[in-house]
Amino acid sequence: MYIYLPDLKNRPGVVFDYDFDEELTDFHADFSEGGTVKLAIKVSHSGQEVLVKGSIEASVEAVCSRCLEPFVHKVNTSFTESFAVVKGSAGEESPANLAVETANMLTVTGDILYLDEYIRQLIILAEDHSPLCRPDCKGICSGCGFDLNQHACQCVDHDSEIDIRLLKLKELKSGN
Ligand SMILES: [Zn+2]
Ligand SMILES: [Zn+2]
Repeated sequence: MYIYLPDLKNRPGVVFDYDFDEELTDFHADFSEGGTVKLAIKVSHSGQEVLVKGSIEASVEAVCSRCLEPFVHKVNTSFTESFAVVKGSAGEESPANLAVETANMLTVTGDILYLDEYIRQLIILAEDHSPLCRPDCKGICSGCGFDLNQHACQCVDHDSEIDIRLLKLKELKSGN
């Protein structure tokens, strides 16, 4: 996800629309493969800064915090950010380094604004840190260990088995 800036710079203040629909690749090391991100942004260049405004719709593979099953976690967020233009060229800097600089310093160096790292950080911030596969996920029983979304709790049966054994034990004892 990147914006080539010279066209915007030549028309200061004019708002350009961009849409991205991408896979979350190796670059997004914190995400499992198979996730996607949709980005719809409006970008303008003032000469001193690049203003970016828009929304993110991401689908990230996550693990349910209750039942521990993997599921696709939808993350939606919107943002407005201005990136200060650093004079001079990007030189030998790699796109990955420039993307990290842009995310951490909110600056842009050279002709291209690399947004990958910035967007990655926004998704992580917007993510629910105790995600649920569904709002009413029943989770795992601490007694029988069954996933209660898929099986009935086995604790009752288990208890009654023990009870029968205890009863037999009592019978034996009283028989003596
Ligand atoms: Zn769950
Ligand atoms: Zn149980």
